[in-house]
Amino acid sequence: MSASNKKSSNRVVRDYCRLQVAAYTFQSLNLRPEIGGNSYALDLDGITVLLDAGMHPKEDGPDAIPRYREIPYDSADAIIISHSHLDHIGTLPVAQRDHPSAPVYLTAPCAALGDALLHNSVNVMTSQRDELGLSDYPLYHHREIGYLQDRWMIRPYEKPFSVDPTGACGTEVTFYDAGHILGSAGVLIEKGGKQIFYTGDVHFNDHTLIKGARFPDLSEPDLLIMETTRGADERSNDYTRADQEALFARAISSALEGGGSVLIPVFAIGKTQEVLTMIDNFKTEGLLPEHAPVLIGGLSTKMTVLYDSFSDSTRRQRPHFEILRDMKLQTGNKRRRTPIEYKPGAIYCLSSGMMSEKTTSNVFARSFLQNPANSLLFVGYADPATPAGLIKAASSGDIIRLDGSHKVQLNCVVEEFDFSGHARREELVDFAVKARPRKLLLVHGDPPATAWFEQELSRLLPETEIIVPPPKLKIPF
Ligand SMILES: [Zn+2]
Ligand SMILES: [Zn+2]
Repeated sequence: MSASNKKSSNRVVRDYCRLQVAAYTFQSLNLRPEIGGNSYALDLDGITVLLDAGMHPKEDGPDAIPRYREIPYDSADAIIISHSHLDHIGTLPVAQRDHPSAPVYLTAPCAALGDALLHNSVNVMTSQRDELGLSDYPLYHHREIGYLQDRWMIRPYEKPFSVDPTGACGTEVTFYDAGHILGSAGVLIEKGGKQIFYTGDVHFNDHTLIKGARFPDLSEPDLLIMETTRGADERSNDYTRADQEALFARAISSALEGGGSVLIPVFAIGKTQEVLTMIDNFKTEGLLPEHAPVLIGGLSTKMTVLYDSFSDSTRRQRPHFEILRDMKLQTGNKRRRTPIEYKPGAIYCLSSGMMSEKTTSNVFARSFLQNPANSLLFVGYADPATPAGLIKAASSGDIIRLDGSHKVQLNCVVEEFDFSGHARREELVDFAVKARPRKLLLVHGDPPATAWFEQELSRLLPETEIIVPPPKLKIPF
């Protein structure tokens, strides 16, 4: 945009601020109330802020994109990204195309991981173009990601910054570490005496590598927008992460002792680095043999390089620990496209976590699943329709369809462990009850999850208006 255009649009915003009666609304741009592809529009008395710009992980084509057209072209004053998972950043180039004047605010690690994720997403969409007959794929291109980044504005945690185009309306935003993945943020927005807090995806307790959330003490905010991912998840009260880690170490060591190998399908951002740090701890504690080779591959390698590059500048359980340098990992060579070779006695941490078609974990599984000495260890959620979901629901001896042309008999050991990157539902309830918001919006949850929160919180917060925001509807606050 030219300087003169920018000036005139600033004037329009200023005039709008002056003329309108104060109006504050929230609007969900998601297709449905579910985990989906997240994006929300806030109208803050004339300032329009977009929260997140996700891609729906289970939909293709136009159904994967939030309804950005609900708000007029180039009317957003700011786009704020909470973290670099696909369901929060995957259509950022589309949102920027619709709102070319809007700066994008995000943390430095979120920008680094997001850049890598968006480029990977171009490659995934390019291969889907022919397979699924999606003529408008890829939705954006490598070069476009590069020049759109001119409008990315890096902001640190816990330092308020203004998102007003002119500074005239006084809209302040502060990022707080959400402890979900590297660079994830909860977002506090303050304007005209109103306070809005968006949790993004949050994990309150420390992980093995990164520390848990450090959120502000809220006191009766006007609006709390809260994730509800695990609302339907009744984890037993005696769950401890330490117990899960001990069981996980034992499962790996028994596979190695029995002459087999271990495959751990992992999400490239977050879960890979957490699992690798656990394995390093297990080796230090003598729970696993020091010499057992650990291999990573797929997008995980790139993301681990980025995690390591922030080892000194972000909150860590083991400051200065660098996974690739200190663990001497073996990585698959993607450039030469040599497949990762199977050998007994090794630990393979390969993405994707759901073993989706064409990903490294899916291709590797072709020669892995039929060997009864091997163990396949799941450490996170898998959609039931994905290969990982099919394997979780299968019994030993079942035939598993890994893709259109590969079927394998499932003979290896399969076990599941709980290392979720999302807060337990009880912890989120405590957080909301302490905050006592005037209005509470339940987002990022499938219907049974939001229903549980709605029921529980209506009892505990009778004064609070609790809403599962339907798509498009403008909710005043
Ligand atoms: Zn996330
Ligand atoms: Zn998410």
